[in-house]
Amino acid sequence: MSALPYAPDSALSAEIRALAQSRDAVILAHNYERPEVQDVADYVGDSLGLSREAAQTDADVIVFCGVHFMAETAKILSPGKTVLLPDLAAGCSLASTIDAEQLRGWKAEHPGAVVVSYVNTTAEVKAESDYCCTSGNAVEVINAIPDDREILFLPDMFLGAHVRRMTGREHIHVWMGECHVHAGIDPEHINVQRAAHPDAEFLIHPECGCATPVVEAMSAGAIDPAGVHILSTEGMIKRPGESPRDEFIVATEIGILHRLRKAHPGKTFYAANDRAQCAYMKVTTLPKVRRALKTLTHEITVPSAVAARARRAIERMVAIGGSGAGPGLSGPAPAPFRTSNEDPGE
Ligand code: SF4
Repeated sequence: MSALPYAPDSALSAEIRALAQSRDAVILAHNYERPEVQDVADYVGDSLGLSREAAQTDADVIVFCGVHFMAETAKILSPGKTVLLPDLAAGCSLASTIDAEQLRGWKAEHPGAVVVSYVNTTAEVKAESDYCCTSGNAVEVINAIPDDREILFLPDMFLGAHVRRMTGREHIHVWMGECHVHAGIDPEHINVQRAAHPDAEFLIHPECGCATPVVEAMSAGAIDPAGVHILSTEGMIKRPGESPRDEFIVATEIGILHRLRKAHPGKTFYAANDRAQCAYMKVTTLPKVRRALKTLTHEITVPSAVAARARRAIERMVAIGGSGAGPGLSGPAPAPFRTSNEDPGE
């Protein structure tokens, strides 16, 4: 699957903006959404940034142009808001590798283990977790847990292998989940692209599971780290403006290229592989955003007992993530270690 065509529609976009105003709605869009959906949004970012926007918005309605687990996270953080997902088919192959029942079974095999879940999980799985983490703070979260504690890390096996290597911890069990998009961004493709564009800087945005194999390959030595920048969304958008280079190879889902090209029209961006595309992110279209606003569908709800337990793990993630640093390179001090039986006080 190659890149989808950019399909702007100024009349439809204007109608959506007017509807959003009349509904007191904010439109949030993930970096991997179609370009025209990004263009109509109030805020575009990664899942952590979107979580933060959802938590602090004054709007009554959040139209979440992303995937289902992200809309659930928005609902958990803003329980009083109406959260809409324009298309319920917007799932996630990584999140669907583990459900709450499977996690409860895994926990039963490892009583007393601390559960650290990557943010790409359902609300029910988060509710069974002690911590959520992003790719940017996973190493710091693990380091905050006492050395002698057993850890269950899920669901991304590449991020799990990376944190195990970076922390040197022996007692980490990793769930063998993966994102289907990552196959388009493997080290072999990257090495070919870097050889074809030797003057290009190499930028990695390790959002979602699609780029975590690259992070893992780098920490394993399969990719030359020279000239590599592992960046958050905002770091990635800023970097070309600060760099003397004119060319950049970007290793993540290709949706982020739209923002980069808009922000830096004088620079050239190459996808590490232009088939690295998340079909779930692309199901959301402008007509579906309009329908969501007109009919207030599809409303995402999370049972209050599940939400209360999941919120604790998510709030820890929101509190300690998003430094702008790459995975395990640097970052803020982690929150104090707690398990799900303790009051996080956050
Ligand atoms: S890129 Fe992968 S991990 Fe991210 S939403 Fe799509 S399927 Fe899920």
